[in-house]
Amino acid sequence: MSTIAEPTFEELSKLSDEFERSSPEQVLQWAIERYGSGLTMATAFGVEGCVLLAMLSQLPGGKNVHVFNLETGYQFPETLALREAIRDRYGIEVEYVRARETVAEMEARFGGPIYGSDPDECCRIRKVEPLKEALAGRTAWISAIRRDQTPDRARSGIVEWDSKFNLVKISPLANWTKGDVWAYVKINEVPYNPLHERGYPSIGCWPCTRAVEAGDGDRAGRWANFAKLECGLHTRS
Ligand code: SF4
Repeated sequence: MSTIAEPTFEELSKLSDEFERSSPEQVLQWAIERYGSGLTMATAFGVEGCVLLAMLSQLPGGKNVHVFNLETGYQFPETLALREAIRDRYGIEVEYVRARETVAEMEARFGGPIYGSDPDECCRIRKVEPLKEALAGRTAWISAIRRDQTPDRARSGIVEWDSKFNLVKISPLANWTKGDVWAYVKINEVPYNPLHERGYPSIGCWPCTRAVEAGDGDRAGRWANFAKLECGLHTRS
């Protein structure tokens, strides 16, 4: 992996400001050249992630970027099927990263599932800890977040230091709107999760995701019985 020196906060801040005027493809190309094998990308196969994978496939060196999915054991079958669709369409192999214990082992340890009683702990075990392990030894990761998705994401730079996981975080779509994303999908015929057309604007694990009503926010269907909006991957503490 790359042994590139860590950038300074000032360098990242300046770059991020410059990238506000760049296309996501330009940001991705910079990341590929700057971080090489130290670069990785996490995708939950949301529509934004599928857009980034489509873009990567068109860029020099883009297909060599390591990409992974946090396979919690609770994902929808439609989500898992996208892994094959992405491989067939773009030649990008997405690696599954899993928690150390299986769903069966975890549920046996707690006497049943905990997503309904303690989703923060469930997300910690099945998402946050596996993410920490997946990012260890990397120098930068690509995320598909957009600023208008949650209050935490609203503060995201296009390039910034991720103090939670100790590496550079690159969010090429941070300043894109939902409309920008879907326009790209339609023009470029990007594969996407069919659940998006059944009332699921944001898709996570099946126990914690429901379809939303007209007029609801995009993430209203995530952890609908809790104040929780994030699984902990994109929060700052
Ligand atoms: S989204 Fe729900 S099922 Fe998935 S890890 Fe978090 S609490 Fe568990």
